Parts: sequence; C-alpha cells; structure tokens
Amino acid sequence: MRKKIVAGNWKMHKNAEQTEDLLNELIAKIPTDIDAQVIVAPTFVNLASAVDHLEFTSISVAAQNMHQAESGAYTGEISADMLKSVGVNTVILGHSERRAIFHETDALIASKVDTALQHDITVIFCFGEELKDRQSKNHFNIVENQLKDGLFHLKAKDWEKIVLAYEPVWAIGTGETASPEQAQEMHEFIRETVRKTFGSDVAEDVSILYGGSVKPDNAKEIFSKPDVDGGLIGGAALKADDFLAIVNAI
Ligand code: PGA
Repeated sequence: MRKKIVAGNWKMHKNAEQTEDLLNELIAKIPTDIDAQVIVAPTFVNLASAVDHLEFTSISVAAQNMHQAESGAYTGEISADMLKSVGVNTVILGHSERRAIFHETDALIASKVDTALQHDITVIFCFGEELKDRQSKNHFNIVENQLKDGLFHLKAKDWEKIVLAYEPVWAIGTGETASPEQAQEMHEFIRETVRKTFGSDVAEDVSILYGGSVKPDNAKEIFSKPDVDGGLIGGAALKADDFLAIVNAI
C-alpha cells in the first residue's frame, strides 16, 4: 500500500525564530489520527533545530536541496552526509526553481538522486512541464523525459526511497492550480510510465504528490483523485492553519 504524504516546502522563508514558532504551532495543532506522513522542509540553517524540535512528534524533516559530491571545494554547498549527520533523511530534488533559476539539468539531478540513495536518503523528486509545453500539447513528453532522465537508471529496489512530486511549473506560486482532472490525468500517465519499465509493484507503491497552488479550499478535491497520493505545498505551508487544513484534507 502506498503512503499518503503531505510535505511543506518552506523555500527561502522563515528565520530561526519564525521556524520555531511555526513548528510549535504545527506540533500543538496537528491531529493525532492522520493517515498520512507529514513532512516540513525548512531552510538548511534551520534543519538541525527543526529535527530537534520535532523529535517526539509525527512530523519529519526534509532538506530542499543537496549537492551531489561527497565533500570537497564546493563553496556554499551542503552534502548528503551533512544532512544525515543532523538527522535529515529526506531531500527534495529537482524542484522547478532549482531547474530554472539555478540551471539544474536532468543529468545533474540524476546524480544527486544517486548520491542521496547511496546515503539512504529518501528523495522527493520534482518534475513538471512549463506553460508553453502544455499549450503546445507537449506536456506528456516533457514529463516522461524528466522522469526517465532523472530516475530510470535506478533499480526497482531503489524506488522504495523515491517519492514523485508532479508540479506543473505554471501552477507554482501563481494561484493557478491544475484541475483535479488534469492532475489525475498526468498522475495516471506517470504511474503507467513507471509501470512499463519497473513493473506493477513499483508503480502501485510509489507515492505521487501533486504540487502547485494547493490551498485549503482545493486540496480535498485534488487529493480525492485515485492517483494523487498527497501534495507538495509551498505558499500554504507557511501558515500552520492552512497547512494543517491541507493535511486534514487527505
Ligand atoms: P506553491 O508551491 O504551493 O506555492 O504553488 C509549490 C512548490 O513549489 O512546491
């Protein structure tokens, strides 16, 4: 049975004090009976304190990025071993902002995936088409290629540590959401694409999250679709009440 997951990507928001405040509010208000894994991804500098803070809770911590090398002269970068050493066991890779603003290629992301898996770190692998791709009806091709280039060199066994996050770029931070039908259509396509190469067990077990302007008022409908296993939440993850309303919608 695949897991339901709601993950909050805090991006470059929340300093140390604000991180603590938001975590305290989440801890105080999170229902005890949720049937989903809840993850938050604060910035690098707040990861260690977030792990400490959440130690006896059901919420876990992810990093938003990671470097592919083990260590070395990479000023400003953070390695897999460093994440593990502060208790972080999950990393978001391939986010569209990393791809677009920091020029991360499919090949680079594939090598980050390898490094993460070598360190037993679970990967939330983000991918999704841009508006122009959808307008030119090329969105299935783009998504298929990102998936193949990033993950299809893996072995079936590796997929236990992979979570997929389909995030159409045109829906991220824009207030524009894919309709539940558009999300379902793409998630079904993604699952089929995985099935063709890795078989039904892998395809049925992999969680596919939707990301892109998920809010308290649209989460339930999106999550109700059979191939949508949760969400990767940006803006709405920055307020405890909004994020928990989304968590409750699962
Ligand atoms: P958004 O961001 O919810 O603010 O659209 C989603 C994401 O970037 O992961």
